[in-house]
Amino acid sequence: MAQNFDAIIIGAGVVGASIAFHLTERGLKPLVLERKQLGSGATGMSSGLVRMHYDLEVESRLAWASFQYFRNWSERVGDECGFRRTGFLHIEPASHIKQLRNNVEMHKRIGIPTEVITGADVKRIAPSFYTEDIEFAAYEPESGYADPMLTTNSFLSAAKERGAIYMQDCGVIGAQISGGKVTGVKTSKGDFSAPIVINAAGAWAGKVSNLFGVPILIDTWTHDVMHIRRPPQVGEHPTVIDSALYMYFRPDSPGLTLVALEDNSRIGESEDSELGYVAKGFADRAIDRICKRVPEMEEGSHHSSHVGRDSLTPDQRAIIGQTDVQGYYLATGFSGTGFKLSPAVGLCVSELILDGKASTVDISVFTPKRFERGEHLKGDDDYGVLWRNPAS
Ligand SMILES: Cc1cc2nc3c(=O)[nH]c(=O)nc-3n(C[C@H](O)[C@H](O)[C@H](O)COP(=O)(O)OP(=O)(O)OC[C@H]3O[C@@H](n4cnc5c(N)ncnc54)[C@H](O)[C@@H]3O)c2cc1C
Repeated sequence: MAQNFDAIIIGAGVVGASIAFHLTERGLKPLVLERKQLGSGATGMSSGLVRMHYDLEVESRLAWASFQYFRNWSERVGDECGFRRTGFLHIEPASHIKQLRNNVEMHKRIGIPTEVITGADVKRIAPSFYTEDIEFAAYEPESGYADPMLTTNSFLSAAKERGAIYMQDCGVIGAQISGGKVTGVKTSKGDFSAPIVINAAGAWAGKVSNLFGVPILIDTWTHDVMHIRRPPQVGEHPTVIDSALYMYFRPDSPGLTLVALEDNSRIGESEDSELGYVAKGFADRAIDRICKRVPEMEEGSHHSSHVGRDSLTPDQRAIIGQTDVQGYYLATGFSGTGFKLSPAVGLCVSELILDGKASTVDISVFTPKRFERGEHLKGDDDYGVLWRNPAS
């Protein structure tokens, strides 16, 4: 006979682990199923940026609710998440200054510590930066980055202490549905029953959802990252999204800077294809751009590169919500920005399941049904999609 659980979570990335943690906080004992190991998907390769600057209010609200965890991790979850406050700069091209100002106003209304600063202020915060092309930027003094694996481990350990069961090397290969209601899953290690199943399978979420007869519009996004040995004269610097140069970068220790690009990520590769190599030309493009913003990086050297893969939706925003199969939920499609949102996403999913509605942040706009209606989420002061090519 299949073992019975209160809920089954498919995928032990940071989203699945956060959902497990929050369900156990409400007294449930979920089963977390992972086809490989903890963090073996996008989470283990994530750059870990923690910032609140989004052009869609609901994402800023989720990021802000999540930030309350990152900065008080040991009290809220236990153990540690590796959060490091570096300050965060968001640079947009000059054509987006009106949107930048309006978005910072929106962030302030939420309560996020942030301000619009001048190029001269940027120079004071980051003396090694070239700032002649920056008239204004957004600054979040409290933001920075955290360690995605520490975060995920910490969520899962706390969930296990409260009664969650974790099984790795256990892939979900089928669904059990009766009378329109989910009743459990079939796995490589046998069948498990539960009245609630949450698909948090990242880049594999589309494949998994097909098992439940619920197709979702989801693609894959394959993203290259490199670390550069920082020359000593550059010194410490803030975490930066530099959309004027289509890149983001942040300090890493010891003496390293992580750099990645907003353009030329590979969309639509198979979920299981090789992740061994960055794209041809990526390192040259990344070095060229970081040297434009931080000229003394010319004296730096290549340290290492890696590749990660996340799920991507048509509007590059998450899919979270109930489906037409009662008890079957989706929490996926995080489109390269889900790490920093994961604490609040887990909390909101637990509220949705147990209270019928999320109260921390109204996440109803993330319903998978929006695509059936032809709706794409877009901020009032939209910057355009994050992952783009320079021509678009
Ligand atoms: C290179 C890179 C850099 C990033 N940088 C940032 C950043 O700076 N800031 C930020 O906020 N976000 C960032 N992101 C995005 C963020 O890391 C992801 O959105 C987040 O980690 C997604 O977590 P997840 O749990 O949804 O998915 P994943 O971490 O991919 O977890 C899904 C899990 O499901 C498992 N699984 C799949 N199929 C099955 C099955 N059939 N049965 C059981 N288990 C299954 C997988 O093995 C995997 O472990 C980045 C992503 C990448 C790839």
